[in-house]
Amino acid sequence: MMTEREESLKMIRETAREFSRKELEPISAKIDEDDFFPVELFRKLGKLGFLGITVPEEYGGSGLGYDAQAIVTEELGYSSASFSLSYGAHSNLVVDSIYRNGSEYIRKTFLPKLCSGEMIASLCLTEPGSGSDALAMKTQARMEGDHFILDGSKTLITNAPYADLMLVYARTGDSFTAFVVLNTDKGVSKGKKFSKMGMRGSPTGEIYFDNVSLNVDRVLGKQGEGKEIILSGLNAERVILSFIFVGLARNALEVSLKYAVERKQFGKSIAEFELIEEKLANMYTRYETSKLLCEKALVEIQNDRMNAIDSAAAILFTAESAEYIAREALQIHGGYGYVKDSGVERLLRDAILGQIGAGTTEIRKHLVASNLVKYFRKNKSLPK
Ligand SMILES: Cc1cc2nc3c(=O)[nH]c(=O)nc-3n(C[C@H](O)[C@H](O)[C@H](O)COP(=O)(O)OP(=O)(O)OC[C@H]3O[C@@H](n4cnc5c(N)ncnc54)[C@H](O)[C@@H]3O)c2cc1C
Repeated sequence: MMTEREESLKMIRETAREFSRKELEPISAKIDEDDFFPVELFRKLGKLGFLGITVPEEYGGSGLGYDAQAIVTEELGYSSASFSLSYGAHSNLVVDSIYRNGSEYIRKTFLPKLCSGEMIASLCLTEPGSGSDALAMKTQARMEGDHFILDGSKTLITNAPYADLMLVYARTGDSFTAFVVLNTDKGVSKGKKFSKMGMRGSPTGEIYFDNVSLNVDRVLGKQGEGKEIILSGLNAERVILSFIFVGLARNALEVSLKYAVERKQFGKSIAEFELIEEKLANMYTRYETSKLLCEKALVEIQNDRMNAIDSAAAILFTAESAEYIAREALQIHGGYGYVKDSGVERLLRDAILGQIGAGTTEIRKHLVASNLVKYFRKNKSLPK
């Protein structure tokens, strides 16, 4: 007997899978080739209840949890990792954070439009001079009378060209503050959209803030608590974004199995060659291990017990594995894998972002090791 929650998660997976395979998959090559963001399809995610999936119904959301968000991210990631990246940036990095940290005014004013897809959102942390070292940001907001004046610029921002609403982090004196900024606010302008090697179709761009006047009611959380807001969302962000690469890896493994079984050389299916068997076995093992790590981490964020070690370890291993799996998928497809029509080389180009976006592999390794060492010094054991 399934519990009510299991039933609802099963339904979410079926709906997300149907949407992904029927509506997204047929245009996934065009999304990549033309660097095309299917904005109307994105808004449709709102009608399905996916954009505000972790937000209570009173604010226009679906009232579900991170487990449901992970399922949607994974299913979209299977057909188009770039579409799933845009989904994750909107629904987790911004919408979930606005719900968790926003005042009643902010929740009531913006969440219904963000949940329906009427508004598209971006999280703005990275700047030209500060990426991994995010707190070295230069964007600042100073008080003038009863308003903040925001100045600075952000770069490499997912959804930027389409963003109606931006969650912007800025320096306020010695501390940091998060602000809700609108595209229509005077002084906000968009810079260039980057042409990328992968994740094409997920629009990435620059945003400038030139003397943008913001009422104090646009502060997310409390003034000076921006750093806490960034840190409080990081564990969930890492785990949810990992699921893009779980979906991508599953796709790479399935197309590889199909091709290895069908393709014949030397009078037999290439799946029978031991060197191909080794690839399939390693791909499967890596895929299953990533999934288990991510699912374990998901239970922890769901129960608010997450620590930086496990969330960083989950995305570290999943991203490295997705790239490995996509590379092996290409090799199994031989020359055809190198041809764009196969769709396999796209999986590899998209997978590479997993080791860079939302924190790099190097920073994740540092996080895992330094936190382990800190814990060990104090407790003389592993955390669990
Ligand atoms: C497609 C895409 C989408 C993105 N979307 C967003 C978004 O929506 N919002 C947002 O704010 N940002 C976004 N980013 C930015 C992303 O978060 C940064 O690119 C990432 O954090 C790395 O920062 P950086 O590019 O400045 O590299 P840097 O920090 O300059 O790093 C360069 C290299 O040095 C290494 N390095 C840096 N510090 C250390 C260290 N202490 N120890 C060891 N090695 C180190 C890095 O691992 C990397 O290999 C996006 C990036 C991409 C490519």
